[in-house]
Amino acid sequence: MIVTRFAPSPTGYIHIGNVRSAIYPYLLARQNHGKMILRIEDTDRARYVEGATELVEDTLEWLGLNWDEGPIVGGDHGPYFQSERQEIYHDWARKLIAKGRAYADPTPSDQIEKYREQCNASKTPFLYRNFRPTDTPEWQPGIPLRFKAEPKSYEWHDEVMGDMHAGPEVLDDIILIKKDGYPTYNFAHIVDDAEMGVTHVMRGVEYLSSTPNYLALYEALDLPRPKLVSLPHILAPNSNKKLGKRDGAKSVTEYRQDGILPEAMLNYLACLGWNDGTEQEIYTKEELIAKFSLDRIQNSGARYDETKLLWMNGQWIRSIFDEQGPEALYARTEGFWPSVAKTHSEEYKIKVLSILYDRLRALADLREMSAYFFSDPEINLDFLINNKFIKKMSEAEIESLLKTTIAKLASIDAWDADNLQQALNDLLQETGKKPAELFSLIRIAISFAPFSPALNLTMEVLGKEIALARLNAVASAI
Ligand code: GLU
Repeated sequence: MIVTRFAPSPTGYIHIGNVRSAIYPYLLARQNHGKMILRIEDTDRARYVEGATELVEDTLEWLGLNWDEGPIVGGDHGPYFQSERQEIYHDWARKLIAKGRAYADPTPSDQIEKYREQCNASKTPFLYRNFRPTDTPEWQPGIPLRFKAEPKSYEWHDEVMGDMHAGPEVLDDIILIKKDGYPTYNFAHIVDDAEMGVTHVMRGVEYLSSTPNYLALYEALDLPRPKLVSLPHILAPNSNKKLGKRDGAKSVTEYRQDGILPEAMLNYLACLGWNDGTEQEIYTKEELIAKFSLDRIQNSGARYDETKLLWMNGQWIRSIFDEQGPEALYARTEGFWPSVAKTHSEEYKIKVLSILYDRLRALADLREMSAYFFSDPEINLDFLINNKFIKKMSEAEIESLLKTTIAKLASIDAWDADNLQQALNDLLQETGKKPAELFSLIRIAISFAPFSPALNLTMEVLGKEIALARLNAVASAI
């Protein structure tokens, strides 16, 4: 049975890359009817942030990535918080001590620093095993415990990076248990993956360089090697550096607050560094589960592209509306309407959504894009007069066009999209204006927005009274 895991550190910020490291293990486990474990790697107490675990859980639930063992759901291999597994790590540490493969190291940190400086000065790589103390005390929590490395070469296969080789120069006496009694990541994940029966270790490629040390630990502990799957870096939009907070990439929480749909987030991140070899871009979760394969994860960095994410989100917004209906999309929009929309009925908001949805990239676009459906826009004559189609008209002409329009529209009995379109066509005939000229004028007068849906639809939703009142207000302000 395939067992994968997602092992985040609860630092409070969920980076795009963190989430992708959850998606691939999830897809592999589901595809093979295996298991995905959620393990919280909280042994770095200095970086621990209150509430961060809940944020991880909530984000995974939002994306629909359920786990089979871990916090909330439990399981046979708990606890799933590393901070609660102290005894387990200490037991495994004692096994290594008994085999002569680990030692307590009381060397003070300033002394270690001196060794490092010494190496820097002589331009030799700093390897702690060259400074291994000769006389070491018996280990007890409170003293750092180090691995006793044997310098040798390793070969291994990485499911993404291929056949790998490393020489003895990378093998070192890494710390297994810190002074505070907590294990390091290097040791804890080896123990946990083994205890939890993880078959596929999928994580960022940044762990690749430490892999020989992990292989040495598996060996020293007589553990079988799991399959190793290094996920490529996500690169910043404009450089070949790893995507960081400074590159303007938002956290998953922020994208969620902007109204990126979980379907789009999942779709986008799954395809960031993986493809199925076809041109397909939009995948449901079920399709991803069916099509995912380790051998199509790319081994070079994947460039982050927010525009693509927004495009994909727009596609998902349209597909929910078109396939599941207006109510289904409306149900996703809570919290994304302008505050003035509060007093309006659900029915009205669904109408607004129905004419706006195909322009949305994120649901939060609704706040600005729909504002004039809920309250009268501020009249901004400069904005009106400077429109490229209106610029050429005199104020008198604008006023007269508005008055003709008002008279025409006022005569409509049944205020619906068809009759409105008919009236607009008649107005073109009567005034001799080009559609862009006349319609820009009417559109701006009723919305003062840079874009709006088709004019007849916009006016139908606004209603006769409001549409005419806005046209009148502008006619008298001119
Ligand atoms: N706790 C590590 C991190 O958040 C996870 C690495 C792993 O998946 O083994 O980067």
